[in-house]
Amino acid sequence: MLVTRSRSDSVQALAPGLAMTGPVKMQHPVQETSVEVPVKVKARNLNVFYGEKQALFGIDLDIPSNQVTALIGPSGCGKSTFLRCVNRMNDVVKGCRMEGLLELDGKDVYRESLDVVNLRARVGMVFQKPNPFPKSIYDNVAYGPRIHGLAETRSELDELVIGSLERTGLLEEVEDRLGEPGTSLSGGQQQRLCIARAIAVKPQVILMDEPCSALDPIATARIEELIDELRQSYTILMVTHSMQQAARVSQRTAFFHLGKLVEDGETERIFTNPRETRTQDYISGRFG
Ligand code: ADP
Ligand code: MG
Repeated sequence: MLVTRSRSDSVQALAPGLAMTGPVKMQHPVQETSVEVPVKVKARNLNVFYGEKQALFGIDLDIPSNQVTALIGPSGCGKSTFLRCVNRMNDVVKGCRMEGLLELDGKDVYRESLDVVNLRARVGMVFQKPNPFPKSIYDNVAYGPRIHGLAETRSELDELVIGSLERTGLLEEVEDRLGEPGTSLSGGQQQRLCIARAIAVKPQVILMDEPCSALDPIATARIEELIDELRQSYTILMVTHSMQQAARVSQRTAFFHLGKLVEDGETERIFTNPRETRTQDYISGRFG
């Protein structure tokens, strides 16, 4: 499968009209380069309905492995709906129905034989508002490995918990109080705890639905750094209402409008040389 990949891993993709730090260096229209990258998640002609109301219309989208793909677009355009198709969270939404194809590693996520619990271990999710369980910091992270039977001994479990906390940069901040409630942490720490909880089950894909929108700028910067590190090991699909954030952390961007995918491609190209007028209007703040 052929998709395009950023030529540089720079997070400096700049959009004209966006208040970003640093000057706009891009002099020439950015062209996309075609490089072979494995596709992790693939949607074809995906339609989603809530009762009679159609929320997504014929979405065709390839999400490449080990990159951050940002989903942007005005409120209500279907970003969260798309995200919830990938780990079948829409299954539990009453009246929600989907048509079309959604594949993870080339296999239909909606096939009958699929084990949804196993799918949700492979496709982790982080929500807008940090939602630690009413348990200790340790038990929050140990929860997934316990229910999925990933650790046979206490020391294996300790290793998974400590490793996951370390990965999110939280360990040094909490190592002397692992028994305290997760809810005792600051908002940014709670969100990193939720990310540690998600990665403790060794997922392949992490879905993030506006993971920073409840956080202050410092906590946001910390999470953005973490997302950039995590893409080495995971495929990340992130909804954000902040175009600056999409430009800073993603390699690819998909722009949704009124339930349709208007355009997707390299983030740098989308923000400097969009093909569609609607994309240009949205990124320059003409609507949204
Ligand atoms: P976004 O995340 O881009 O803001 P959503 O995916 O939440 O958009 O919503 C897309 C459309 O689907 C909206 O019109 C919204 O009102 C509708 N929708 C979302 N969730 C539900 C639900 N549980 N029941 C009915 N309609 C819903
Ligand atoms: Mg949403």
